[in-house]
Order: sequence, then C-alpha cells, then structure tokens
Amino acid sequence: MTASASTAPAPEARRGLLIILSSPSGAGKSTLARRLMAWDPSIRFSVSATTRPPRPGEQDGREYHFRTREQFEAMVAAGEMLEHAEVFGNLYGSPRAPVEEAMARGQDTLFDIDWQGGQQIRQAMRDDVVSIFLLPPSIAELERRLRSRGQDSDAVIRGRMAKSEAEISHWAEYDYVLVNRDLDACEADLRTILTAERLRRIRRPGLADFVRQLNAEFEGRR
Ligand code: ADP
Ligand code: 5GP
Repeated sequence: MTASASTAPAPEARRGLLIILSSPSGAGKSTLARRLMAWDPSIRFSVSATTRPPRPGEQDGREYHFRTREQFEAMVAAGEMLEHAEVFGNLYGSPRAPVEEAMARGQDTLFDIDWQGGQQIRQAMRDDVVSIFLLPPSIAELERRLRSRGQDSDAVIRGRMAKSEAEISHWAEYDYVLVNRDLDACEADLRTILTAERLRRIRRPGLADFVRQLNAEFEGRR
C-alpha cells in the first residue's frame, strides 16, 4: 500500500452535519432533540447564547449560555456567532467555534433555532446543512403543549402563540417538514432522515479515493 493510500479517508468517512430543527415554540423541538441525542450520543447539541433569563431547572452552559445584552453584543462584534437573531424580545445566537471544531472531527451538531438562524446558517454552509421543520397537529394542540410545559406565564404563552403564525410561514424553506403528532413516529422519521443524509455522496470525501482503488484493482486484473 502506498503512503497516500494509507492516509486517505475511509469510504465511510464524512464531514459533520449541521442539523437544524425549527418550529413554533411548543411544537416539540427540545423533546425531539433530546430523544435524537439519546439515540445517538455522538450528536453534539449547539448550546446557544441568549439574553433571556433562565427558566426553572435550566443551567448555564447546558440549555443555554445565559448572557447580558452587553456580553452578547460583544460576542457578535467579535465575530464569535455563526448566526444570531432577536426572538420574543431577547437575543439568541449560536457560538461559531464549537461548530467548526465538531465539523472538522466529523461530528454532527444539532441546532434548536428559529427560522432566522436557519436562513443564516443555510446561506453560509448550504452543503453541510440538513434542515427540518416541525409542525403541530393543530393550533389548539400547540397551545395545550405550551401550557402543559408549565414553565411560562400567561403573558409569555400569549406572546409565543402570537408569533407562531410567522414562524410557520417559513415551513417551505426547510428540507424536511414533519407533523409532530406522535412523538415515537416523529422520532423514527428523524432517525430515518439522519441515516440517509449521512450517506449522501457529497458528504463523503473518502469515496473518490476508494473508487480509484477499486479501479486500480481492475487494472491489476487486466
Ligand atoms: P419546543 O422546544 O418546540 O418549544 P417542547 O419540546 O418543549 O417544545 O414541547 C412542548 C411540550 O409539548 C412539552 O411538555 C412536551 O412534552 C410536549 N410534547 C412534545 N411533543 C409532543 C407530542 N407529539 N405529543 C404530546 N406532547 C408533546
Ligand atoms: P426558548 O426561549 O423557548 O428556549 O427559545 C425561543 C426560540 O428561540 C425558539 O424558537 C428557539 O428555537 C430559538 N432559538 C434558540 N436558540 C437560538 C439561536 O441560537 N439562534 C436563533 N436564531 N434562534 C434560537
């Protein structure tokens, strides 16, 4: 075997994917993100920075990096955000460095972000993105889920419901659209999407060398 052949990427090698999950608030993003990462613990969750105050049970550095507006704006000015947007009056953004490190390692990153963040990442890194939009089975069920979560005040829930229509209007910008009626069925669909997307030719830098090796074997037999 030549030196170059031994250092070539394996045919299975691939770049890390950027998996974008968006939906109106309450449709089930966080629940499905947790399930997907339990299924495949190698998936890295992109912990966003936000100026929103923590909800009960949320820990700094786990659900979000909780920052002041001044700290957040300094991160944006320093180019540390891959994308950022204002949602429900608070700033949210995805730190850039951990995403680039994960991609280089071939590790997938999962983003729970809104349509504005989805657009920005898609524009910057089209070939590495798979984007999925979750729809609720009905608006009444969306409201029921927001209330059943029991983490937001009436006023906050009304604000989130008011923004749902605008979020849903971006459904057609996504590669896949799932109706989150049944959690198990929706999780199964997400696994199928991920399994297929990981196999796409454009994501697998080792294939061309592998096929060259197969052709060399043909040559050797002639
Ligand atoms: P998001 O992250 O999109 O705001 P969550 O994942 O927090 O939404 O879900 C909101 C609430 O709805 C949670 O209490 C969750 O357990 C519930 N939920 C999510 N998906 C379903 C489903 N398919 N059927 C019933 N309840 C669901
Ligand atoms: P929540 O306050 O319920 O955690 O999130 C509110 C909304 O902000 C959700 O739609 C969520 O997807 C979105 N969001 C969370 N983090 C980010 C981020 O880093 N960037 C963008 N653009 N949206 C985010």
